[in-house]
Amino acid sequence: MSSSQARANEYPIPPRMKAWVLGGPEELSLVDKPVPEPGPAEVLVRVDAIAVCATDIEILQHGVPAMIDGGLPFNRNYTPGHEYMGTVVKLGPSVDEFQIGDRIAVEVHAGCGRCQRCREGMYTSCLNYGYRAKGHRANGFTTDGGFAEYAVNSVNTMVHIPDDMSDAEATLIVTAGTAMYGLDVMGGIIAGEAVVVTGPGPIGLTGVGVAKALGAQPVILTGTRDSRLEMGRKLGADEVINITRDDPVEAVRRITGGKGVQYVLECSGAANALNEAARMVNRGGRICLAAFPHESVQVDLASIVRNNIYVFGIRGEGRSATHRAAALMAQKRFDAKLIHTHTFPLSEVPTAIRYARERIDDAIKVVVQIRQN
Ligand SMILES: [Zn+2]
Ligand SMILES: [Zn+2]
Repeated sequence: MSSSQARANEYPIPPRMKAWVLGGPEELSLVDKPVPEPGPAEVLVRVDAIAVCATDIEILQHGVPAMIDGGLPFNRNYTPGHEYMGTVVKLGPSVDEFQIGDRIAVEVHAGCGRCQRCREGMYTSCLNYGYRAKGHRANGFTTDGGFAEYAVNSVNTMVHIPDDMSDAEATLIVTAGTAMYGLDVMGGIIAGEAVVVTGPGPIGLTGVGVAKALGAQPVILTGTRDSRLEMGRKLGADEVINITRDDPVEAVRRITGGKGVQYVLECSGAANALNEAARMVNRGGRICLAAFPHESVQVDLASIVRNNIYVFGIRGEGRSATHRAAALMAQKRFDAKLIHTHTFPLSEVPTAIRYARERIDDAIKVVVQIRQN
């Protein structure tokens, strides 16, 4: 018997599995469905843990964003969930990048690999988004996700994780990857530069960790709750501003000796966030919007244009940013574990989502631990 066969025997794959499916708005149910089969350049992942994301809550209410094919937004068999990690248990044809038994974390988007954006590394903005026959996958959005015992992943959406990283911490890699992508699109040259992160949610807090690990100085975090700002300090923020007590623009100006900052990573989604960010950056500064308000807002375009300010919006975690975030976490350059606050088993996904949605007990990242190791 070959060693790969021996390894495969350690991970027997049942024909059917437990999976949560979303049948309609707020209609989550736990069902029994077939374990999926990996195709070329894909593997079968045994999902060991998955984090609840604010986007999961949006999908629960409104369905996934309109797609090219697939009968979405709601389709009785669709399994949500996209921030997961697990163990490779079966290899599809031609896969040699991973071995059975490897522990991996995932990113969301496998682009088609053939459109202009994919060729530029911007596979989270694939021009064939949702077009499964062209190879596009966005697990938890256009294809089945990780609130299940097993999921199929493209080899392009996985990163190895070290043995000493816990399952829960590994689920946070994709969150940190999104923050990393935001810093990338602004230019990524941030050692010694002043950075403001607005909004201490999961992306903002990991954004503080990534910015600090990349050498930004000072890293300034704004928010409304002292407990979150305190967590930001532990993740590397040099200065924190509670905007319920302090005007954030004046505070940033004061901290930087009147100069303003080079970069703002906007993670609050507040209606006035872009206008404030535009007054925090210096001339020629850059702003990345990683969150957005649902209503349309007034923007002072004249000041943005006159001051040559660059504004970027990001979707997800392109350009392999997840790999770079995973490397920083593997090197323990910041402690993403701090934002993991609650854990539930697979049978309690609705409770896990409720904790995240209602921020019960000050929940930040709620993790569903599917396998007990
Ligand atoms: Zn997410
Ligand atoms: Zn594409």
